[in-house]
Amino acid sequence: MDRIHFAREGAFYATLRKRVDAALAEAGTPKDGAARIALKSLFCLGLLAASYVTLVFVAVPVWAKLLSAFLVAQSIVLIGFCVMHDAGHGAFSKHRWVNKLMVHSLDLIGGSQALWKYKHNILHHTFTNLEELDDDLDTNGLLRLHPEQEWKPHHRFQVLYALPAYSLITIHWIISDFPEFFGGKIGRHDAPARTPLATAVFLGFKALYVVLAFVIPFALHTWWHVLAVWVGIQLIAGFTFSLVFQLAHVVEGVDFPSPLEGERRVEESWAVHQLATTVDFAPRNPLVSWYTGGLNHQVTHHLFTKVSHVRYGVVQPIVEETAREFGLTYKKHPSVMAAVGAHLRMIAALGRKPAEARTTVTATA
Ligand SMILES: [Zn+2]
Repeated sequence: MDRIHFAREGAFYATLRKRVDAALAEAGTPKDGAARIALKSLFCLGLLAASYVTLVFVAVPVWAKLLSAFLVAQSIVLIGFCVMHDAGHGAFSKHRWVNKLMVHSLDLIGGSQALWKYKHNILHHTFTNLEELDDDLDTNGLLRLHPEQEWKPHHRFQVLYALPAYSLITIHWIISDFPEFFGGKIGRHDAPARTPLATAVFLGFKALYVVLAFVIPFALHTWWHVLAVWVGIQLIAGFTFSLVFQLAHVVEGVDFPSPLEGERRVEESWAVHQLATTVDFAPRNPLVSWYTGGLNHQVTHHLFTKVSHVRYGVVQPIVEETAREFGLTYKKHPSVMAAVGAHLRMIAALGRKPAEARTTVTATA
């Protein structure tokens, strides 16, 4: 992979890290999620187990079946946001083996932790909002999510089809995992090397998923009922995952920095780059913070990936205050609806033909 390099870190990130370490020590809280995230995970996994069992095995009225399907979708979202994401970053527990175990919760809901760690931890977190490197911006041309992406006539309508298209993301993950894992390519990038053990784990979990999602339900229910419910669950989960990812990086006011002319480096340091390309939303809404696993505090998450989301209440005010002190802009939208509006305006601006949109999509906020 032809990487892009950042400028040397200045005093901002060193000061910030020192302050965050001191505040966590003073509050007597570890960086990992410890008992708090263990309890939350029990709830998320318990909800999945209870709703799945009711949906597949228990004779209940249709409305209860539909409610169970909705709760399966919600538990998939909660496991993704609150369990797998922290574990993937090594923030779930101070014990490596616990993180390694809990990140497999992604395999349980149909994804692949091996591919996720590469796409999310490396491509997205290191090269946030940099075209060709941040995997979150790559939709194979379906959407134009960066000013440097090639414009195509269908992008004029992307503001209309973006939200429905987001619903397809988990189905896309489940299917595209196979060519990515065995083809050795993730978009334009080489996938991580495959070991026999990684292949066995990948295939083992995929087989388990097929058994849980299709083989057992097909044995007990009408086949097209099973398929319809599975698609419905995926559409709800996919829409929620995608929207939350987009609200933090593809919104009005965010930066899409470019490498310096003819070079493979950007002007700012990595930490300053994260502040420029990342936005918080609904930061004072405890329900949103709980449901999204702290992804509404995305700035804090990007600067402190090794700190569990259950600690963001201590960390976030320090990040905001230190950024202000160093004259850096800390970006946030006050509510989910404000962030959705800012996202749709950005999608609409990126969908205009570049010559027409030059005044609306700018490289700097
Ligand atoms: Zn992350």
